[in-house]
Amino acid sequence: VSVTVSPLFDPQGNIIGLSKIARDITERKLEENRKSDFIGMASHELKTPVTSLAAIIQVANAKLKHSDDPFLASAMDKAHKQVKRMTSMINGFLNVSRLESGKIYIDKQAFNLDELIAETISETVLTVSSHRINFESAGPVQVYADQEKIGSVLSNLLSNAVKYSPKGKVIDVQCRVMDGQAQVSVQDEGMGIKPGDIGHVFDRYYRVNNPHTQHISGFGIGLYLSAEIIHRHDGRIWVESASGVGSAFYFSIPLT
Ligand code: ADP
Repeated sequence: VSVTVSPLFDPQGNIIGLSKIARDITERKLEENRKSDFIGMASHELKTPVTSLAAIIQVANAKLKHSDDPFLASAMDKAHKQVKRMTSMINGFLNVSRLESGKIYIDKQAFNLDELIAETISETVLTVSSHRINFESAGPVQVYADQEKIGSVLSNLLSNAVKYSPKGKVIDVQCRVMDGQAQVSVQDEGMGIKPGDIGHVFDRYYRVNNPHTQHISGFGIGLYLSAEIIHRHDGRIWVESASGVGSAFYFSIPLT
């Protein structure tokens, strides 16, 4: 049962009582779990054929890169990009399933967070030429964390900054040490997030639905997974945003 309690005021603004609304959320939770189970099973089944398709396309793409037929070369390049997108979507869904069945493990090691950020930015700019990404770091920031999973949080925040801001805009990334924690921010000059949506963007399958976002593809799992990863590092993740101005996503994790 979900309970919402709100104060009741008299005309002078004094609290004279409380209103309490109780809702039965069992059915909604069951429905959500059924949806999640189905997505998990479907992704599991898709994983093998898509992985072999990706391998075949990768080889064909490498062979046809210098083909005399420009149509063939460009078609294979597009197929390669699309199959990579499919693979990352399927992996995202599988990660949600694994997370919910307690099968995501945090495997910590010491590494330099600033170097990981620089690498992730380089990987992003290989496929994205529409935005300029600036990176500012206060020197080496060594952390003890799961490098691969923190890398996936970074690429998610970067790809969102690209997806939700117009071409030609700047994305600023910073890495610093604050109060014994490593803190990273990814700031964009995009559409921003309205106050009513801010509290939900880290929820599973939540997507903002407005005319600006309707044509942008996604499933609302990137920030949910990112938040889970950061929480499992005893860290914090949050966003500051102004509609029409831009968003800044932050996360902090303990140094050791
Ligand atoms: P997806 O992008 O696949 O929908 P996410 O979980 O990554 O899923 O994000 C959830 C929602 O939060 C998005 O649908 C979008 O509406 C909003 N959002 C995320 N990042 C940004 C951003 N940088 N600027 C504006 N809105 C954002």
